[in-house]
Amino acid sequence: MKVLIVHAHYEPQSFNTALKDLAVETLTGAGHEVRVSDLYAMNWNPVASAADFAAPSNPDYCVYALEQRKAFESGALAADIQGELDKVEWCDLLILNFPIFWFSVPAILKGWIDRVFVSGRFYGGKRIYDKGGMSGKKAMTTLTLGGQNHMFGPNAIHGEMDVLLRPILRGALAYCGFAVLPPHVAYHVPYVSPEARQMMLQYYRKRLLTIDQATPLIFPRMEDFDEKLYPKVSQEIVR
Ligand SMILES: Cc1cc2nc3c(=O)[nH]c(=O)nc-3n(C[C@H](O)[C@H](O)[C@H](O)COP(=O)(O)OP(=O)(O)OC[C@H]3O[C@@H](n4cnc5c(N)ncnc54)[C@H](O)[C@@H]3O)c2cc1C
Repeated sequence: MKVLIVHAHYEPQSFNTALKDLAVETLTGAGHEVRVSDLYAMNWNPVASAADFAAPSNPDYCVYALEQRKAFESGALAADIQGELDKVEWCDLLILNFPIFWFSVPAILKGWIDRVFVSGRFYGGKRIYDKGGMSGKKAMTTLTLGGQNHMFGPNAIHGEMDVLLRPILRGALAYCGFAVLPPHVAYHVPYVSPEARQMMLQYYRKRLLTIDQATPLIFPRMEDFDEKLYPKVSQEIVR
């Protein structure tokens, strides 16, 4: 597989960065091709704004998604966006590697998604979920956090991890057509023993070695919805 790791940690000596480095080493060793976008090292600009369009179709009023679509179609995306888009086009598996910030991704990664997941290519009209622009590709999230395992789940103090991650797993990745693999979560990272962190790394290595066999999570399929996107039959929509 061709694997793109988008890494969003500011500290090269962090445990989160160790997970990224381990993924590079393990996947490369297993015969996969790996590329990395290290967003802090790249000084990635996360701000989606009218400045992204050198020749906007409407210079007086920026409708970001509309300008994205036009710039994509005419090959006029900003160079940094086009560079990242090319990497996503190249990959079979996208791994987003990040620490949880406020139940979410760090702003630099949110801004990568905002600017790179361009309308007209990643999604558009009813080209969403299994019909999304990235269908045929897989995606996974690898994340570290301060909270402990027991704090996440049904009735747990912070609720379920899948709900916490819904904006990224469903709202961005599944929506754009990626087959989304279960997240890889390292809990309580700064507070556990060095030995426990070594075990976390070993566990991640094992997971990576079978990554091509992982079963994706279930998300809506367009065939279950009508022209107006109402469910065709009464059904429980998963997630
Ligand atoms: C703005 C902000 C918001 C946050 N919001 C949340 C939240 O909503 N929920 C939540 O649970 N947490 C939250 N956190 C906590 C954050 O998610 C964690 O602190 C972070 O994910 C821990 O991972 P790290 O890589 O940064 O840890 P680090 O502190 O970098 O590393 C932990 C330890 O691992 C050691 N280490 C480094 N490399 C290795 C290695 N190869 N092997 C073994 N040990 C190693 C380091 O030396 C360090 O002692 C937030 C933090 C911030 C700053």
